[in-house]
Amino acid sequence: MYHTLVQTDTRHGGDSMTTRYITSVSQIPGLSTEEKKDIGKVENWFSFKASEYYLNLIDWSDPYDPIRRLIIPDPGEIEAEDGDLDPSGESTYTVVPGLQHKYARTGLLLVSDRCAGLCRYCFRKRLFVEGADEISPDVTAGINYIRKHPEVTNVLLTGGDPLMLPTKKLREIIAEIRTIDHVHIIRIGSKMLAYNPMRISEDTELLGLLREYSLPEKRIYLMSQFTHPREITPEAEKAISALIDAGVMILNQTPILRGINDSGDLLAELFRKLSFIGVSPYYIFQCRPTHGNHIYSVPIEESYRIFEEARSQVSGIAKRARFVMSHATGKIEIAACTKDYVVMKYHQAADPEEMGKVVVCRRNPSAYWFDDYVSIVDECPLSSMDDPRNDLVIGAPPEADTPSE
Ligand code: SF4
Repeated sequence: MYHTLVQTDTRHGGDSMTTRYITSVSQIPGLSTEEKKDIGKVENWFSFKASEYYLNLIDWSDPYDPIRRLIIPDPGEIEAEDGDLDPSGESTYTVVPGLQHKYARTGLLLVSDRCAGLCRYCFRKRLFVEGADEISPDVTAGINYIRKHPEVTNVLLTGGDPLMLPTKKLREIIAEIRTIDHVHIIRIGSKMLAYNPMRISEDTELLGLLREYSLPEKRIYLMSQFTHPREITPEAEKAISALIDAGVMILNQTPILRGINDSGDLLAELFRKLSFIGVSPYYIFQCRPTHGNHIYSVPIEESYRIFEEARSQVSGIAKRARFVMSHATGKIEIAACTKDYVVMKYHQAADPEEMGKVVVCRRNPSAYWFDDYVSIVDECPLSSMDDPRNDLVIGAPPEADTPSE
């Protein structure tokens, strides 16, 4: 059994904010003594953390409340010895301390081992366990690596949540990356808009920093993680407006999760609300089979169905998300399902030869991950596809139809 470190911070790094964090189940006001006892056992393996603001979004009269399920530990997490701590093999792509380089154009800097809340379905639990060493507080080696690799055009700051860093530290990192000419896009992966939007809307220094470095020709993107429409509160909308005003682009990504957002209607509502407030739905993820996640996971084909049901109810702008799986070999899109087959496509690939590869598998309704598909009936990398352009003679007149007698 693993043991994650308690994130004891009661305030985040940008010290002027007033939001308090609660880091022990025993301090949650909405739970009975009996519930605290049951849930407390889970804390020993994966800690609990939430802001007071986020706990206030929970409807405590509903034991199945989706916001509650998202943040309050569930004894089911420790009932099965499922998954492992790094199902996507992320650590194998670590090239220098704190930097992953899996896809040619993207450098992933792990800059923080803190989050504003601990999602029960977290796919990076390994970063929070005792002895974890993938996050480097000193990003010098990572930035030097990026500087020497001109193919890296975008850098994703992640963790943990980069917005848990003090604004001053974030400024140092972003300013240094902006000295690298070939890096055009800086992305910040953060669930702060859902967990504590005041961290953004009340920190004028942070907004000033983003405004300074999100340039007309080189933007900063915030990769938000709204998982349920109820997370889009007036406070979150205020923070989003401030980000847009600072020139930041916002894209949303979230997994499909059992008991949280596993319904076409609800996901449609999320897509719709996001599009109304200027946030583009970007990725819907298959929940990674990380240890403790099984009770939150939905089989791939069921998720596909939910995803398509949601897309069928919304406008073109709201239906821009792709349904993908972050597999060790690449980001695999679940592109289509027929009666008998599932069609997948490498949206990103660790091996450039696999980019765009289409894989057709016989359906398996109990598959939770790519590896559960054992019957592959066809696959075709882009390089093996006939190129129809080879048969074209540029400038040749179209053949005239033979007149019929
Ligand atoms: S915000 Fe991301 S890293 Fe933090 S707990 Fe949630 S899923 Fe894990």
